[in-house]
Amino acid sequence: MHIHEHDCDASAVEYVSTAEQPYHYVGSGLGNVFLVGVKYWVCSRCKKQAADIPSLNQLLASIARTLVTKTSPLTGEQVRYLRKRLGKPSKEFSALIGVTPERYSGIESSTTLPLSEGRDKLVRFVYGILSGDKKLKEALDHTHEVEQWLLALHGSRDSERILGTWLGAKSRRRWRVEAAPLGAVA
Ligand SMILES: [Zn+2]
Repeated sequence: MHIHEHDCDASAVEYVSTAEQPYHYVGSGLGNVFLVGVKYWVCSRCKKQAADIPSLNQLLASIARTLVTKTSPLTGEQVRYLRKRLGKPSKEFSALIGVTPERYSGIESSTTLPLSEGRDKLVRFVYGILSGDKKLKEALDHTHEVEQWLLALHGSRDSERILGTWLGAKSRRRWRVEAAPLGAVA
């Protein structure tokens, strides 16, 4: 047996993530999603991690809702996340928001804030309408709420962490996902 080969499962230590030590959920495709209340395992030898994430679909939908409603501008990877949730190829999505495919690929890979305020709002609107997300649809039916939402967007320039808290299988919401200011969690 090669000296570096080992069984990660046999060397795994189990943890439950807490608010003080949330689980960094890189599997989301977003760099800033952290989860509280999930079971995860870390291999004591190679530090490889695995997590058991319950009600995954609800979590992913809630993350998208949080992105659509947060007041700070969307980042490139967040735009990509919303597009992928819609199941749209880049070319199709770029046409929906009125940019060329070339310009669009630059948007998704941008590490700075890639969208004008107007186009940022359009991306969120497109997601709200096309996603079929019931909570967003309901919100879009209330004209006053929509106005408040549109006026609040880009009200904050601060980047944030997306913090998901598992509320338990018995909770109707399952997950609470919020945009938490940086520094709010350890
Ligand atoms: Zn290992």
